[in-house]
Amino acid sequence: MDFKLSEREELLRKSIAEFAQREIVPLVEEMEKTGEFPRSLIKKMGDIGLLGLVTSPEYGGNGMGFLARAIAIEEVSKVSGAVGLALQVHHMACWPIETWGTEEQKKKYLPRLTNGETLGACSITEPSGGSDVFGLQTTAREEGNYWIINGRKCFATNSHVADVIVTVARTGEDEKGRPAFSAFIVEPSFPGFSLGREEHKMGFRGAFTGELIYNDCKVPKENLLGKIGEGLRIGLATVNRVGRSGMASVGVGLCYASLEEASKFAKERVLYGKPISNLQAIQFMLADIFALAETARWLTYRAAWMMDQEMPCDTEMTLAKLVATENAFQCARLACDIHGGYSAIQEYPVQRYLRDAWVSIPSGGTSQVAKVVLGRHVIKNF
Ligand SMILES: Cc1cc2nc3c(=O)[nH]c(=O)nc-3n(C[C@H](O)[C@H](O)[C@H](O)COP(=O)(O)OP(=O)(O)OC[C@H]3O[C@@H](n4cnc5c(N)ncnc54)[C@H](O)[C@@H]3O)c2cc1C
Repeated sequence: MDFKLSEREELLRKSIAEFAQREIVPLVEEMEKTGEFPRSLIKKMGDIGLLGLVTSPEYGGNGMGFLARAIAIEEVSKVSGAVGLALQVHHMACWPIETWGTEEQKKKYLPRLTNGETLGACSITEPSGGSDVFGLQTTAREEGNYWIINGRKCFATNSHVADVIVTVARTGEDEKGRPAFSAFIVEPSFPGFSLGREEHKMGFRGAFTGELIYNDCKVPKENLLGKIGEGLRIGLATVNRVGRSGMASVGVGLCYASLEEASKFAKERVLYGKPISNLQAIQFMLADIFALAETARWLTYRAAWMMDQEMPCDTEMTLAKLVATENAFQCARLACDIHGGYSAIQEYPVQRYLRDAWVSIPSGGTSQVAKVVLGRHVIKNF
């Protein structure tokens, strides 16, 4: 067992941290105001390799893998959870295309997803319920050289900025009579596609979240991703392995952002003639934040490392996501406590961490659903 990051991973952390300070920090205020993703950032993220972390070099990525991705998303999320979310969902478009795509699909879509031309989206959730995958209503039927998709997706991250969308729709029934799904690669320029409402969120402001509408949308046959009927497997594997590990890393970034701000404030705020960091009650809260942050980080790194080793890791991903996003909320709550009344004032970023952490909990699957998965694991294995 080796807990030491490689020189390459340490270097990556340093360069992404510098990039985040230089390129993302100046954008945060405007993102909070408008709720819009800064398009100018996409090319810059492509140039520094953030968009191609889980894509092989032959398709334009750098293939650094999931542990490197965890470190990179953590560093980005320390300054902006919204950019962390947008980035992690972007990888949820790249990974299934490389894993299940045809050679033509990989050559067509991956270079443009990694070089900074566009962001990707992975849109599964519908108004009929995100947790209930068999309740998805969007359909796709074959007609000549096209698949015709009808339905409405909601909560799609990068909705109003992505040019490549991985989605799933019902295409029939499986042998047990349950709905069967297939996956597709959709471009917003396809006839019958339109953007629906853009949500105004309390947290992750600056990451687009919106509706995608398919009204007899004509998707060329060659844009079927994987085989007919394989959509649920593709969608769930992407959510479990890429989505959950990505949200866990966003959570870790938020945990450490809270830790740094809480410690800084405690050392600067003077009460009774001394910094409040002298008060044991404050030290206990700092210790709690530290413990929550370290727990989240190491569970997340373990799950990402297992993914890189191609080990089965769905349980570890789910555990990391549950712990990291819940801990992010607790860390932000404690950091707000330490700030007293100042936590309510917008100049102090801890209120943003609290809002972002709250929204991170359902993103990628709720904590209750994660506990259903983990509960089953415990009953089976212990
Ligand atoms: C900021 C943000 C970004 C997102 N980005 C994307 C994206 O890019 N792509 C995408 O496809 N989706 C995305 N989502 C959607 C997200 O995956 C869903 O919100 C999530 O899966 C929950 O679905 P829901 O909101 O419909 O809640 P519901 O499924 O309606 O759940 C309602 C309640 O029921 C509980 N519940 C449901 N099933 C069970 C069960 N079996 N046992 C116990 N309790 C249960 C839930 O825990 C919750 O408390 C995003 C969400 C957010 C908030």
